[in-house]
Amino acid sequence: MALALLVALGALSGGLTCEKEVTGKPVVVVTIFPLADFVKNVAGDRVDVATLLPSGASPHTYEPTPGDVRDVAGAMLLVVSGAGLDFWVEDLKSAASDSLAVLNTSAALAEEGLLLSGDEHEGEEDDHGGVNPHYWLDPVLAQKQVEAIAAALAAADPDNADFYEDNAAGYIDQLRSLDEEIASETRSFTSREFITFHPAWTYFAQRYGLVEAAVIEESPGKEPSVEYIMHVVDVAREHHVKAVFAEPQFSAKAAEAIAADSGARVLLLDPMGGEGLEGRDSYLALMRYNVDQMAEAMA
Ligand SMILES: [Zn+2]
Repeated sequence: MALALLVALGALSGGLTCEKEVTGKPVVVVTIFPLADFVKNVAGDRVDVATLLPSGASPHTYEPTPGDVRDVAGAMLLVVSGAGLDFWVEDLKSAASDSLAVLNTSAALAEEGLLLSGDEHEGEEDDHGGVNPHYWLDPVLAQKQVEAIAAALAAADPDNADFYEDNAAGYIDQLRSLDEEIASETRSFTSREFITFHPAWTYFAQRYGLVEAAVIEESPGKEPSVEYIMHVVDVAREHHVKAVFAEPQFSAKAAEAIAADSGARVLLLDPMGGEGLEGRDSYLALMRYNVDQMAEAMA
């Protein structure tokens, strides 16, 4: 949708409805659920958090709504994952005031040289320079995102800076435990290669010594050719892959076809989680859910 139209609709529906409860607290707008959970763990009840991407949607194919324009316009801070994942937020940013504070969580990771390359992952609209944007699925890199969030909150709301820093330290301890837990569980996997729907698990695989043997869709939303699917089946057979992972945000058809032809099992990995999704409604729960899914076929 054209930006001008989005803004106009945003203003119009803003006058007609009042969908958000007004608490008087500063609002932090985030693009994806895992970042919302990070902000909630750092900011507690000192802010209201609004997540732009709805539960069950994919950031790779999302189109912003007029409500998103309103959310961003009223925010104290906008937290973006970055590296092209939430490319659609650029339009929303340009509709907001120049004084809006924006945190791009990929910046700290890029500075430390921790970003991995990706191949045409986001399709035509991205400008992320070939970086794989799924770093939050590595609990060690997630700690750096949480540190960046705490610093951005402290800068935007200095009166509560100590509160944010203390909470961040406590939450980072939990992320460290999660990392140790996943490292110990994955260490004993007897099968170490897997096939995923899209390259969401590259950072995770690198962290825990696993191998993303093939991906079904390099660029989510672009259907693979029959030849490519046959190639993935060959990889699955040659590498004795036991797990082909589908994702709740996309159709499982291709994964099912590959598994049927290679003798692997189809299981569900969820890179996003979301509010109201049982067992996947916090980052910690989401990651434990995903490791359990992997263990089903690979342990
Ligand atoms: Zn993705």
